[in-house]
Amino acid sequence: MLGSRKREIRIQADSFREKCKISRYGIIDLFKECDRIGYKLLRYPLGENGDLGFALKKDDDIVIFINTSIRLSREIFTLAHEIGHAMLHLNGEQPFIDNNATIAGGSGDEKEQEANYFAACLLMPSDEIERFIDLELPDFEKNGLSGMDIARIMSEFNVSYDVALNRLEYLGKIDGQQKTQLETERTEKRVGNLLKSIGGNSRLNIAGNEIAIPYEYIDYVIYNYNHNAIPRETLEKVLECYQLTIEDISDRLVEFPEEDDDLDDLIGGLED
Ligand SMILES: [Zn+2]
Repeated sequence: MLGSRKREIRIQADSFREKCKISRYGIIDLFKECDRIGYKLLRYPLGENGDLGFALKKDDDIVIFINTSIRLSREIFTLAHEIGHAMLHLNGEQPFIDNNATIAGGSGDEKEQEANYFAACLLMPSDEIERFIDLELPDFEKNGLSGMDIARIMSEFNVSYDVALNRLEYLGKIDGQQKTQLETERTEKRVGNLLKSIGGNSRLNIAGNEIAIPYEYIDYVIYNYNHNAIPRETLEKVLECYQLTIEDISDRLVEFPEEDDDLDDLIGGLED
């Protein structure tokens, strides 16, 4: 990636971040930001081996899907990566579908690298990392970073241990040797324990299995049901995602005449 392209990507990440609610350093809730900006965000547990997420453009809508069977910190990074595709690459109908290979596997694909760079700049901008280390980690100059410090950075910026290490290495805050030491410390102490020991956000390290579908999808589904395009079971399944039943929306359903009569009428009509 050329330096000039990186700068363009940082400008895009910065423009998105400007609209976000920030705690002291990190974005508080990237999921909410997507809703606010008007992206159609779907979160659903597809299973640990399912794809991580995708981004696509449908008419005027940006649709982002995220698999919630994955640790929350990774889910957030996937979301940031998909926002990167949305801002940098989505002009045609071609969707971007992401899995371990495109996001974490160091795939050579330039657009995947760009989306990863966007995600890193959005979640962990260099000036905020600088400020965090300066104000929150007073022993940094003397002792460098410990596993607990990484857990502090994770909790503030809502990133995984790996993403934090990669970003800190990229920004020159740790070198290759320190990174290896911190990886060893992670293996020995476990990330969950490190997060607990600093009173950090332990939820980052577990899968949320969240289900979140934009509310307007109910309208589409009811419309399709009322036009006989989907069976009752599908309607029920979708409603279940919103913790609703048929009774809850019964006033919005069109009653159809007995199916057989309807079919006869139709066939009769065609034969005329
Ligand atoms: Zn991607």
